[in-house]
Amino acid sequence: SKRIGVLTSGGDSQGMNAAVRAVVRMAIVRGCKPYLIYEGYQGLVSGGDKIRSASWNDVSNFLTLGGTLIGTARCMDFLKPEGRRIAVHNLIKHGIDTLVVIGGDGSLTGADTLRHEWPDHVKQLHDDGKISQQEADKYRNLMIVGMVGSIDNDLASTDMTIGASSALTRICESVDSILSTATSHRRAFVVEVMGRHCGWLAMNAAICTGADYLFIPEDPPAGDWETDMCEALKRTRSAGKRTSIVIVAEGAIDDKCNPIKSEFIKDVLTQRLGYDTRVTILGHVQRGGSPTAVDRYLATLQGAEAIEAILRATPDTPSPVIGILENKITTQPLKEAIALTKQVAKAIQDHDFQRAAELRPRSFLT
Ligand code: ATP
Repeated sequence: SKRIGVLTSGGDSQGMNAAVRAVVRMAIVRGCKPYLIYEGYQGLVSGGDKIRSASWNDVSNFLTLGGTLIGTARCMDFLKPEGRRIAVHNLIKHGIDTLVVIGGDGSLTGADTLRHEWPDHVKQLHDDGKISQQEADKYRNLMIVGMVGSIDNDLASTDMTIGASSALTRICESVDSILSTATSHRRAFVVEVMGRHCGWLAMNAAICTGADYLFIPEDPPAGDWETDMCEALKRTRSAGKRTSIVIVAEGAIDDKCNPIKSEFIKDVLTQRLGYDTRVTILGHVQRGGSPTAVDRYLATLQGAEAIEAILRATPDTPSPVIGILENKITTQPLKEAIALTKQVAKAIQDHDFQRAAELRPRSFLT
């Protein structure tokens, strides 16, 4: 039966465990043999007990837990062809020629590269006497399927990445907590959230917490934004609000591409309005905790679809990535998804927000 390895790579996100569980169990249901690969690509390069066959019960209790129980890593060795050749050898040792990779765009790009190089590595391993002719004939191709795990919701070609819903929920819970103390003291809070190049978390957090002002990379403020922000906050105070909340994406910039720092915003509010202002950088708490129902559901449906995509594929099928668009689980060419993601990032870099919104309409307020 087909042997399918599953790994998580890059930054962790809530719902990755649910995705691993779904892949393992659906593989078993469909008559395949699943393998857990520990520590991301590092596990592929290290081999040995980092690659273990998985039973139904090995993923018990995965569904509700955050993070990734099989570990993740940034693996330098895998960035080099020599490292990837070792990975190919280790996979062949275990009889695995199909991989499900759950990670961000870097991890998915790496998986696609491995697939393209696979036949050359197999030939070289055979020439070097490391694998037999029989093995070289049997493991001619690698099949890969990508699933997008990322709290930032920064991948084009899917409306929602696995982890984004949980991270947004965590931010909302944190801002709710801040609001009660802020109200008591009539304080202003500058809350910095994750999202290097993508303001999805910040924008949705601002909507969901009724924040007073927002900074995201996709919509850099022009001109005298300090005055505009102060006026906006004064208006909400004079309308009776006891607090002011400003949400800042960590990648926020102004219209000249200068970073907008939380501490600077705090100084503006303190000096111009005299507000008792505090900065809260939420940091890794956003990645923590158990996945929301949305992430569990999304990861489970996508994990099941990943196995179906494997069983449908032929050696000529472009590597697929599983996503969700307009409430439908989708299977699209991975390369196109990555290329589109890069185009969106470039449009944002070029300040062409109209184009960014056209390329990825449901991720922006247009
Ligand atoms: P995040 O969104 O959290 O940054 P990511 O998957 O984009 O997730 P990266 O650090 O870019 O995270 O990639 C994770 C690992 O994937 C790297 O450490 C490396 O081992 C592998 N990888 C990334 N890019 C490539 C590439 N172009 N070729 C081969 N391997 C890669």
